[in-house]
Amino acid sequence: MQEMHTPGMQNVVLASKSLADYAPVVGDDVIAEIEQLARPLQGARVIHISSTAYGGGVAEMLHTLIPLMRSAGLDAEWRVISGYDEFFSVTKSMHNALQGMALELTPAMRATYLHANVDNAVYFEDGFDYVIVHDPQPAPLRMLRAGDSGHWIWRCHIDLTAANPAYWAFLRPFVQMYDAAIFTMPSYVKKDLKIGKVAIVPPAIDPLSPKNAPMSVADTRRIVQLYGVNPEQPLLVQVSRFDPWKDPLGVIDVYRGVKREVPDVQLVMIGSMAHDDPEGMEYYQRTKDYAENDPNIHLLSNLDGIGNVEVNAFQSVATVVLQKSLREGFGLTVAEGLWKHKPVIGGNVGGIPLQIEDGKSGFLVNSIEECTDRALQLMHDPQLAHQMGVYGREEVRQKFLSTSNLRHYLRLFNDLSGTMADERHATVLSSHR
Ligand code: UDP
Repeated sequence: MQEMHTPGMQNVVLASKSLADYAPVVGDDVIAEIEQLARPLQGARVIHISSTAYGGGVAEMLHTLIPLMRSAGLDAEWRVISGYDEFFSVTKSMHNALQGMALELTPAMRATYLHANVDNAVYFEDGFDYVIVHDPQPAPLRMLRAGDSGHWIWRCHIDLTAANPAYWAFLRPFVQMYDAAIFTMPSYVKKDLKIGKVAIVPPAIDPLSPKNAPMSVADTRRIVQLYGVNPEQPLLVQVSRFDPWKDPLGVIDVYRGVKREVPDVQLVMIGSMAHDDPEGMEYYQRTKDYAENDPNIHLLSNLDGIGNVEVNAFQSVATVVLQKSLREGFGLTVAEGLWKHKPVIGGNVGGIPLQIEDGKSGFLVNSIEECTDRALQLMHDPQLAHQMGVYGREEVRQKFLSTSNLRHYLRLFNDLSGTMADERHATVLSSHR
């Protein structure tokens, strides 16, 4: 049965945030620079368009970025596109194929994708100064609203390095309609993409959100105990949607390898069911079967009441945070773990090496065996784990906090409208036409 949906995009209600609150974390100079960049943009109408307001990294970031844009004086809002289940199955295939999976792109899939975008486009209105469209799901909007004013930016959060050629060939003409595109890393920019401007912007976490704000040790312990986890015993934690690229079965193999030497080790895998991710349930079930009722493996999700505060508690209590992805656009969970002073072991893929300095803030691994060995090493050497955690947190503070993300956007806006106040503020921009 198909879900009901209202036509057109839905507005996302946002909490309010104040830039000034971030000064103690990032420093007054960062806030002053943001204020300077925002001066020519006062009152600018900005809209972000994405496919979900809940679950996954994009939603996570927008819940902070947009309130901070408002705090800086811009008139920013967020809408999510609507669509039937069938549309989100197609876009999930698209996501998988763009990350390199060999999948077919049938005429029926193209039709479903375009039809949902037309539905969203007809209810959209002209009049924004900056329109930021996130990821492939709503990418055709620019073409469908070709007459609209404003600067249109496509923000790609995924790793296109090994993109399935058929899917990229389908998507590329839609993307080329934009004035600019933002990618996480230079290597994600396809060579054949013809677009006016490309900006490189790494994603970021919010140090003051309930997921990342400091919590008392007593609170974190109480919360994990509530879910049957013993804070006195070693704990591996991976927070990730249940998705093949996050390698949940590989994580269980790592846990089993560690358990041979550390019998009381526990594993927590937290994976919320995102609204635009129909595969979630299936992979959750597959992971559950693979765990074979091991009482020390805890699979938790939003359906168990896991929200941001609980994620914070588990990451804070972890002995080691894992992000054993096989493909990863960025992996906010890596920065989240490092921010909590944890060594993070991550797959040596995509945006993870951008965040983990191998041997300094954690380890980059290429196999289950390597991951198991590194986890054991950290469990046997708490001092090393501590040092890595301290190093990693400072790295995140300097490079991957929301204020830095905001700065990049403001620079790009200024650049697009020719209001760049000062050459020193030029962000990493290039022309790809
Ligand atoms: N997340 C969460 N609960 C979950 C699973 C994920 O809150 O059960 C959050 C996680 O903390 C992170 C984001 O969702 O902030 C996932 O972003 P990431 O970039 O790691 O991966 P994506 O889901 O975008 O592929």
